[in-house]
Amino acid sequence: MFRVLSILLFVCLALTLSAQRDFSKVEITAEKINENLYMLQGSGGNIVISKGEDGVLMIDDQFAPLSEKIMAKVKELSGGEVEYLINTHWHGDHTGGNENFGKAGATIIAHENVRMRMQRGLTKISSGRNQPPAPSIALPVITFTDDMKVHFNGDDLHLFHFHNGHTDGDGIVYFSGQNVVHMGDTFFKDRYPFIDLKSGGSVNGLLKTLNQVYFMVDEATVIVPGHGSLANKAELKRYIDVITELSEKVTMMKNEGKSEDEIVQAGISVKYDESWGSGFINPTKFIGFLYNGIVEEKMMDK
Ligand SMILES: [Zn+2]
Repeated sequence: MFRVLSILLFVCLALTLSAQRDFSKVEITAEKINENLYMLQGSGGNIVISKGEDGVLMIDDQFAPLSEKIMAKVKELSGGEVEYLINTHWHGDHTGGNENFGKAGATIIAHENVRMRMQRGLTKISSGRNQPPAPSIALPVITFTDDMKVHFNGDDLHLFHFHNGHTDGDGIVYFSGQNVVHMGDTFFKDRYPFIDLKSGGSVNGLLKTLNQVYFMVDEATVIVPGHGSLANKAELKRYIDVITELSEKVTMMKNEGKSEDEIVQAGISVKYDESWGSGFINPTKFIGFLYNGIVEEKMMDK
């Protein structure tokens, strides 16, 4: 179980490495959320599709080699093709299929910084891996800065951007009528978060994002995390609490003059590590994000 989950989390960073991975055995599974919404899983970030009288809208598209399988699953569930595609952020395990879906006629929507970062590419993200500039057909053609609404299939979708969380281009998609929210990679269910400091991610920004979503949802909201199974408000709360607790501890120790290594050695996260740190983001990496994120944020404040 842990091994499977750690592989799922690993692909969040697998960007260009994806070309070398074998996707032939990956199956796309569908989990029904309600009559109109499904969560699709394969390899990469969680996908949501909305099907109905207006057609098909999809959120995120995993890796390019999976596009045909995803298209087949969409056809099976809806009888149609994706007309609108929303990206929750720019990472390759959420936008890898953009080129294929763009060529197939989908209109791509995302935060402005998703387009900017995809256009530019990146030679070194936190993992040291590369993501080359995307071709224009793969780029979002409709972008937003703070928020926007999409009226589709009888629902009003609110797209929110809270600054600098997992990246600087995170979009939270809330199906207001159906009370379902896709949080992208601002939420890894029951795992330490990945904070992509090289893509404008920030510890405080992530916590602000999570708290804003927490106050927006209720006990009945179905929460779709970027990775992991469907979640609820209580599970989001637990995630916020763990990050808040460890972030405060790291800040305190940093202010006392402790080095990153000393904080890692202090074992402040030990009670969570077995479950929360068993994925790609192990305790050392997570404490590194907190330590370096806090340093960077202090510098930005000056
Ligand atoms: Zn991501």
